[in-house]
Amino acid sequence: MAEKSFKYVIIGGGVAAGYAAREFAKQGVKPGELAIISKEAVAPYERPALSKAYLFPESPARLPGFHVCVGIGGERLLPEWYTEKGIELILSTEIVKADLSSKTLTSAAGANFKYDVLIIATGSTVIRLSDFGVQGADSKNIFYLREIEDADKLIEAIKAKKNGKAVIVGGGYIGLELAAVMQINNYDVTMVFPEPWCMPRLFTPEIAAFYEGYYDKKGIKIIKGTVAVGFDSNSNGEVTSVKLKDGRSLDADIVVVGVGARPLTSLFKGQVEEDKGGIKTDAFFKTSISNVYAVGDVVTFPMKMYNDVRRVEHVDHARKSAEQAVKAIFASGEGKTIDEYDYLPYFYSRSFDLSWQFYGDNVGDAVLFGDSDPASPKPKFGSYWIKDGKVVGTFLEGGTPDENKAIAKVAKLQPAIPSVDELAKVGLAFACKI
Ligand SMILES: Cc1cc2nc3c(=O)[nH]c(=O)nc-3n(C[C@H](O)[C@H](O)[C@H](O)COP(=O)(O)OP(=O)(O)OC[C@H]3O[C@@H](n4cnc5c(N)ncnc54)[C@H](O)[C@@H]3O)c2cc1C
Repeated sequence: MAEKSFKYVIIGGGVAAGYAAREFAKQGVKPGELAIISKEAVAPYERPALSKAYLFPESPARLPGFHVCVGIGGERLLPEWYTEKGIELILSTEIVKADLSSKTLTSAAGANFKYDVLIIATGSTVIRLSDFGVQGADSKNIFYLREIEDADKLIEAIKAKKNGKAVIVGGGYIGLELAAVMQINNYDVTMVFPEPWCMPRLFTPEIAAFYEGYYDKKGIKIIKGTVAVGFDSNSNGEVTSVKLKDGRSLDADIVVVGVGARPLTSLFKGQVEEDKGGIKTDAFFKTSISNVYAVGDVVTFPMKMYNDVRRVEHVDHARKSAEQAVKAIFASGEGKTIDEYDYLPYFYSRSFDLSWQFYGDNVGDAVLFGDSDPASPKPKFGSYWIKDGKVVGTFLEGGTPDENKAIAKVAKLQPAIPSVDELAKVGLAFACKI
């Protein structure tokens, strides 16, 4: 079978791979030195679009509109860009074996790829209900969303089941975004999740109450405290209803499941050190093997600000970790060093005309401020998280770009607060004065 050799290979063609490619070009990679090998059929794109504008019924986002790096207002890297730079995009190619000792990757079709330096950017895969043996979970029209192919299949079903009933399983950000787009597509939407409120990993009950109230206003029904335990289907194998643990049954033409993701590290098991479920790296994204780097969702890295090691499944970290790794690779080639990665956690989501941003750590006591009444014509509110008398986390719904910058700065600088009551009273003005 064919064998190809490259100085640098990126395995995975998602967000991190795209931002890494841009940084390789900036650092002066030479034609023929870099290859990106991806299971997907398209050049790297901004994955968050898949649960948002990609699913809109009117003027949906489509490629090539959202190739990286438009997510940060950067140059859009079209497939031609890779050709011009001499970067080989090897698409629709799944790597099924990685032998880090012989520096060889093998594709499903049996092709071998050799490298001097490898960057692992395989991202995450969805957790499936069939993984837990949920009865009927492989019925037709039960969808998961990770790659553009998944989104295309969902769009087909949305058209086929026009104005039908959708059940969204999961109350995280994917569940919330999907519930919104299904409603925009004129579906009758019900969300189901086991926790007492939505997005429990980030939202306080007060923050969640706003979004749940807003969704209720849009006609989305939310069922909490129970889980899907089975699915009924018709003679075509298409889902017809979702059975809940509490005994209820919900009619469904389409089910979308968003119950979490897990990092794709299995190819490297036993070959690199792991930590907290991810591939362990240093502050330059170098793994326990000196010519192997890892970036994006798969890495557990030192979070300098919190003197901790963490794994982060957000797009901002995918972009920044990729840039850091490539800078480090070039610096080490020149015998130089660069600054350690000093990441401020940042996460955002958008649905309907809502948009929130979160920075820092959601630990300690939360202080809500602003107008969080879902019935308000223009709600705008936020939260600070306070630990040891300092602000360590910030959240803002409906902020302007300047206000979002201000809350990011606060999460980074961790100023001491006057008093909790005072902070709640002054609200956003506290951040804007820092
Ligand atoms: C629908 C959706 C919406 C999101 N929205 C937001 C958001 O609003 N805000 C936010 O902060 N984050 C969001 N995220 C998370 C964000 O997109 C991820 O954190 C980010 O994409 C991670 O980048 P990555 O490059 O590590 O992985 P990915 O972008 O997932 O890329 C991994 C790539 O590797 C390929 N691959 C995997 N295994 C192999 C193999 N064996 N061989 C070849 N190729 C392989 C995959 O096909 C894929 O192309 C969203 C994610 C999804 C799925």
